[in-house]
Amino acid sequence: MPYVHDTILRLRHSSPAQTEFYQAAEEVLECLRPLFERSPYYHDHSIIERIVEPERQIMFRVCWTDDAGKVRVNKGYRVQFNSALGPYKGGLRFHPSVTAGTIKFLGFEQIFKNALTGLPIGGGKGGSDFDPKGKSDTEIMRFCQSFMTELYRHIGPATDVPAGDIGVGAREIGYLFGQYKRLTGCYEGVLTGKGLSWGGSLGRKEATGYGAVYFAQSMLESRGESIEGKTCLVSGAGNVAIYTIEKLYELGATPITCSDSRGMLHDPRGIDLALLKELKEVKRISLEAYLATHPEAHYVPVADYPADGHAVWRIPADAAFPCATQNELTKADAETLLGNGIRCISEGANMPATADAVDLFLDARVAYGPGKAANAGGVATSQLEMAQNSSMQQWSLEKVDAKLKAIMASVHRQCADTAEEFGEPSNLVLGANIAGFRRVADAMIEQGVG
Ligand code: NAP
Repeated sequence: MPYVHDTILRLRHSSPAQTEFYQAAEEVLECLRPLFERSPYYHDHSIIERIVEPERQIMFRVCWTDDAGKVRVNKGYRVQFNSALGPYKGGLRFHPSVTAGTIKFLGFEQIFKNALTGLPIGGGKGGSDFDPKGKSDTEIMRFCQSFMTELYRHIGPATDVPAGDIGVGAREIGYLFGQYKRLTGCYEGVLTGKGLSWGGSLGRKEATGYGAVYFAQSMLESRGESIEGKTCLVSGAGNVAIYTIEKLYELGATPITCSDSRGMLHDPRGIDLALLKELKEVKRISLEAYLATHPEAHYVPVADYPADGHAVWRIPADAAFPCATQNELTKADAETLLGNGIRCISEGANMPATADAVDLFLDARVAYGPGKAANAGGVATSQLEMAQNSSMQQWSLEKVDAKLKAIMASVHRQCADTAEEFGEPSNLVLGANIAGFRRVADAMIEQGVG
């Protein structure tokens, strides 16, 4: 079928220099081949052409004043990709690497992830090339206020509900929410990831990491195995990584690594979670400081990583949880993991494995959970926060966690059943893409052209 090639060519021409977006689009479109052969009516409705084009892209200037009184300028983005299933939903990323292409790739992935949750949420994403690192609290506040001063006119509880992502945690959500309230005079559920005393949901902070572990557990159970007793590699040291590590301990596994943008930490006896939280959530400092308390652990700075990959994936273990960023697990890393007998990979981050690494995992038929399925717990719990906000309720942690667990089991079931339906039972990439796409595409067709 020439449509994959034709679509990617068209995207390259109409949206130049967005390599991560082409990578994400190509992966989804390749997986849809068997569906199109079976159901040509998606072609008849030009669904491919429509689904790769965002409904709306907002790009804006963000001016703010630093503590020295100098005016700084950043770019702001919000991509409202697809609203067939509900209000746009997806995080905001503040990181110097952010471009229009990054936000577009993340927004595209978000459409199918949100569809897999079975909840009424469309796909969107936003962010800025602002770097929160090294900024004071007041600088962060002024940036967030300026960002929201433009964004507020485009979002709302029934239109678009942003959340956090890399560089956007509870502190940033607080400043963004405060400015939205000031500008609109409305106290409403326009953001998720809010503080617990002012509209946040218990369990939201933990949801993406916990969900990635629940997904791994479902994959392993379907193969007659368990996460209990497994030695695990985790990359990242942010929100997703920390709560992946927490849930791994709860389920009897041993996480032995984590990483940040400066280096990798290996503690063969298991990562000291309380210390990790103190370093990253409270002090916001480098992982290297871990050695002051645990001199027997190993720290590898980025400069000493292998030229063709990431130091975390070179350590032998049973399961891997990439939880930092995109393309952080290369083909060479995948070869090493497989050579060391890895049994399960569950992606907390979005698109952390390169396309050739994914091919190796699929060929080896190990349990591989792609990010759009394995990390769907975050957005699912965001929707639970929206439900609590609109009904003026606050649910218990037990209730939220039970719902999260059920949603992750259902996401896994849909992916596995769809993979089976299309004759590739262990291919959860195929299952996730087809199951997510079908739900969105059917809704688009039923809602008519527009
Ligand atoms: P976060 O709290 O900002 O943490 C990100 C972590 O990754 C940090 O440890 C950071 O290092 C590291 N990192 C970021 N960029 C890196 C790079 N280019 N190279 C090496 N390390 C890098 O972000 P998060 O919320 O945990 O998000 C992590 C991943 O999960 C992202 O792919 C995100 O899209 C995905 N995700 C997040 C959620 C959610 O609910 N938060 C939901 C679904 C998917 P430093 O500490 O040095 O900054």
